[in-house]
Formats: sequence, structure tokens, C-alpha cells
Amino acid sequence: MKHVNNNIKAHDNVFLIVEDNPVDVEIVRAMLEEAYQNNYEMLWAECFAEAENILATKPIDALILDMNLPDFSGPANVTELNNQYPHLPIVVLTGYDDQAIALETIQYGAQDFLVKNDISPQILARSLHYAKERKKLENTLKQSYADLSHKNGELEAIARTDYLTQLPNRSYFESSIQRCIEQAKRSKKEFALLYLDLNNFKKINDKLGHAAGDELLVVVAQRLKVIVRDTDFIARIGGDEFVIFTDLLHTKDEVYQLIDRILDQFEQPCLISEKEVKCVLSIGVSFYPDAPTLAILMKHADYSMYEAKQSNMTNVGFYTKEMDTKYARKMQIESQFDKAIEAGEFDVHFQKITSTSNPDSCLFEALLRWESSTLGQVEPDEFIPIFENDLYIDQLTYIVLEKSKHLINALNHKLVDVDCIKVNVTASQLSSEEFGHQFIVWLKSLELDPEKFCLELTERQVVENTKACLAQINILRQHGVSIALDDFGTGYSSVKHLLNFPIDYLKLDISLIKGLENKPKNQALMAGIIEMVHRLGLIVVAEGIETEAEYICCQELNCDLLQGYYLHYPSKIDDVVNYILT
Ligand code: C2E
Ligand code: MG
Ligand code: MG
Repeated sequence: MKHVNNNIKAHDNVFLIVEDNPVDVEIVRAMLEEAYQNNYEMLWAECFAEAENILATKPIDALILDMNLPDFSGPANVTELNNQYPHLPIVVLTGYDDQAIALETIQYGAQDFLVKNDISPQILARSLHYAKERKKLENTLKQSYADLSHKNGELEAIARTDYLTQLPNRSYFESSIQRCIEQAKRSKKEFALLYLDLNNFKKINDKLGHAAGDELLVVVAQRLKVIVRDTDFIARIGGDEFVIFTDLLHTKDEVYQLIDRILDQFEQPCLISEKEVKCVLSIGVSFYPDAPTLAILMKHADYSMYEAKQSNMTNVGFYTKEMDTKYARKMQIESQFDKAIEAGEFDVHFQKITSTSNPDSCLFEALLRWESSTLGQVEPDEFIPIFENDLYIDQLTYIVLEKSKHLINALNHKLVDVDCIKVNVTASQLSSEEFGHQFIVWLKSLELDPEKFCLELTERQVVENTKACLAQINILRQHGVSIALDDFGTGYSSVKHLLNFPIDYLKLDISLIKGLENKPKNQALMAGIIEMVHRLGLIVVAEGIETEAEYICCQELNCDLLQGYYLHYPSKIDDVVNYILT
């Protein structure tokens, strides 16, 4: 290392010349002297290794580099130098013969070049100045580019992430599963898609507010994240919908372990807004390659989840082939609703109920009927579960009340007073906080007397949401609406419900009545139930009486009210009115 001139320290004019020819060094030194007077410092290295030592220890403002050093030649080396010292401006020194190489060095990262026999103090100073400015500009551009790509990266991450749970979002899920399908296709692997949905999310949102709903989603995401393996993919793809896909190494059964882990995680209630909230998940499962595309995987998983929701036995559904037909039909039915309402296709039939003690009593059960112009006759057992989870069902209940009003008025007109009309309601209606009030509002708007109405609900509804049901029932009873427990004998047949629920009627299901005359055990059971129910002050209704023998049996067993085809079929209003008057 040779210090040629270091009299005066000029902070931004510290140059390092790397040159093995001392004559050239002297020429450059003289020119620098003339151009900068004493206002510069020049360091000299005879080879590149020496230059590196200097660069490592001293800040250099610009490098004057001979391209033909014993240990350094070829423009590609400039790139390496540039990478190592990204802020160092480089001016390359070449002879005439090397002009092509000199130009190349610019492409490889030098800021300027000088031809040895063609320099003057001014040209040298201008070149050094230009190299420094150009380097600054290059670095600013590089920084802006780096900032931009960092920002782009951030934006990309935001676009792929669900803001609330920080899980991947729907679009990221779709691109990932698409890749997973491609991979599985190549490696002939199977994987499972789990589609999860919270059963009670809407209720929690309504009851505790949206902030609590958001909190719950975050907790659900955290619990799911804990149980999935690193190789599983988990995303939130909608309001309360999550998906997981997991590769299956050996058999489909492997998915059960994951499902068990998920269900276990949700055994414990979640603490939301300082309240314990039990979070119930429904899970639909589909498999690749049984479902070979994303659309079919999602459809299968969706169908299975719906099946799980309908069932009161399990929270998990697996896709079966029969679901295709079933769901095609479901879609068809759903799609017809608006048209059916507009065209007035829904009707209500009334089935007269006979009192064993008072032949003059006038009681009915209102039963919806749908004669669809496109699908033909659709049974209530088929369309009600489909419309149940939407506001559709309220529109249908309103139609039932409107038609009930027609029946009451038509009979009043003929001086017959209706005592009671029994109206069926669904679990979803009774678990909605507004339903009780809404029902009373409907009755008032139609000028109907609440005392003339009885709501029929099933035990399953009661079991699924005891608290909410109780609240709604209390509201309705305060206004004079009575309550019947329908289909008793099909599900739980729990004495507890009879004791704890403020009900007025108990309806024994058709399954208990069928062939009753030949079933002494059923008779004994019914005798016991009826006696107990009477002691509780309830009225007993026997449903589905089809034969004279069943009719006699039910009378002998002390049923208070009798209902069935043997006595009356559900009929149109006009037919009911005509029958009653004859
Ligand atoms: P449910 O409330 O148990 O109604 C009694 C069902 O038994 C009715 O079937 C009725 O037609 C039928 N039935 C009456 N007597 C006999 C008989 O002697 N033998 C036989 N085999 N059946 C008899 P429907 O009208 O098909 O209704 C089926 C179910 O659909 C009802 O069962 C009820 O759960 C539901 N449903 C009907 N209308 C409505 C409604 O307006 N709202 C709601 N939420 N559900 C309704
Ligand atoms: Mg009923
Ligand atoms: Mg029933």
C-alpha cells in the first residue's frame, strides 16, 4: 500500500487507484493534483488483493481500476466487486485496445471508463464525479426497487390472508388446493378435504354482538391451528366457514384421527366477552381422487356437512353417492321457492281433531301443502327441512296464519266457532329470539285471537335449544297461545321435558298408535304415559288413527283428543266448511 498524497483529508475525494504500472499511477496522481489541488487523497494498490485490504479498512469514495492486473481481469469480476462493495463507484482504466472490454465493464456494473492515453485532469475529475453521482442514483433506484418489492410482498401476503384470523383466505386456499390436486395427481396420492362450519355462530352474533362473533372466530382459528399438522393446510373461507386439507398416507381412516382431535378441542367452551360459549362444529368430509376437482371436492364436502347438520346423531358427514340425487333435488326445491310464493302455490289443509268428551268442539291442525307447477306435489316432510334454515319458513308460517283466518271466518260466517288451530313450527324458528313476539305481531295484524292458537313443537327442538325454546314459549303463553309437544314417542320421550316444559298438550306419535289393538305392551306403556300426563294436567292427543280398532283402543286408553285419517283427512278450507255443516 502506498500513500501518494495524504496532506489534506478531503472526505468525499478519497480515491483508490489499483494499477500495476507505476507510470500510469504517477500520471493519474498528477492529474488529480491538478484537478483537486490538495483537496483529495489518493491510495494506491498494485494488485487486487492489496486493494481489497485497503477497502476493508478505509472508506473510499471512488475506485480507479485497471482491468489488467495480475490477479484481476475480465469485466465479470466487476460484478463481484460491485456485490461486495455496493456503494463503491468504479471507474475502469483501459488502453485503446480494450475499449470493447471497457464498455462491457459498464454493463457489469462499473460507473465509467477512461482510456489511458486519452485522459486529462478535467476528464478524470468529471469521470470520478460522474461515477459517484451515478452510483448514488443507482443505489437510490435499487433501494426504491427493494422497498417496492417488499411492499409488493406485503400486499401479496395481505391479499392471501384473512384479516381477522390471520389464516389463509379463500383465494389462497383455492390456489393451494389446486396445486395440491396437481401434485396428488402426479404422485397418485389421496387427500381429504374437511369443511367446517359453526352451528351456533349466527346466534352468538345476534346475542353477544359482532365483536364477540369475531372473537369467537379468532379462538376457533387458534384451536384449529394447534391441532393440524405442519403439512395440513387450513384456511378461513367465509363468515364461519373453515377448511382443512390433509394428505392421507395410507387409508381414509387417517382422517378420523384429525376429526377426533378437532372435536376434542371443542369439548371445552370458549371464553368470549367473559362468557363461556359452547362452540359446536359441523364437519363435512370429501376425498381426492373420489372428487377429482376443486368444485366437486367442495360440493361433496358441502353436501356432507349439510347432512351432518340435519342429523342429530353426529357432527360429521362423509360424502356418499346417494347425496348427489338428494342434493340435486334440494337445489331444485330451493330454487322454486320465490316462484311458488308468487304463484300462490302453497296452500294449507286443515285436519279436524275429535274430542272424546265434547263432540261439539272445533279443533284443527294446520298442515302446509305445496303443489308445484314444475315439481308436482312436494310433501311437507321434504320441503320444510329445506326451507327451515332460511327466512322462508317465516313466510310459510304467515301463510298458515292467513289461511287459518280464512277458515275461522268461513266457519264464523256459518255460526261455527273455532276453538283451536294447531300450527307447527320449526326448531330454527323457536330458537330465534324474535319469534315469540313476531308470532304475536302476525296474529294481531291478522286480527286473530292468540287463545285460538296452539304451537306444535317436537322434543328434538326442545333438546337442541332448551333455553331459547323456553324463553319463546313463555312469551307466547303469556299472550294466550298454547303449546303442544308433537311426535312424542319417536325420539327422547323424556319425562324430564314433560316436567320442565310449560306445555298444554302431548301428542302421541303415530308409531305408538299403529296396530295398537294387537300390542298389549304398547297399550300398557300408553296407559302409563296417559295417566302420568293427565296427572300433570296436560291434554293427550293420539295422532295417526287409521282404523276403527285403533280408534276404539285410544278411546279406551282415555286419550282426550283423536286425530287420524280414520276420522278426518287433512282437507281444503271449502271441504272442511262443507263437512262441518253437514
Ligand atoms: P306432524 O306435525 O306430526 O303432522 C301430522 C302428520 O301426520 C301430517 O302429515 C298428517 O297429514 C299426517 N297424518 C294425519 N293423520 C294421519 C293418519 O291417520 N295416518 C298417517 N299415516 N298420517 C296421518 P303431513 O301433512 O305430511 O305433515 C308432515 C309433517 O310436516 C308434520 O308432521 C309437520 O312436522 C310438518 N308440517 C306440516 N305443516 C307444517 C307447517 O306449517 N310448519 C311446519 N314447521 N311444519 C309443518
Ligand atoms: Mg304437528
Ligand atoms: Mg306429529
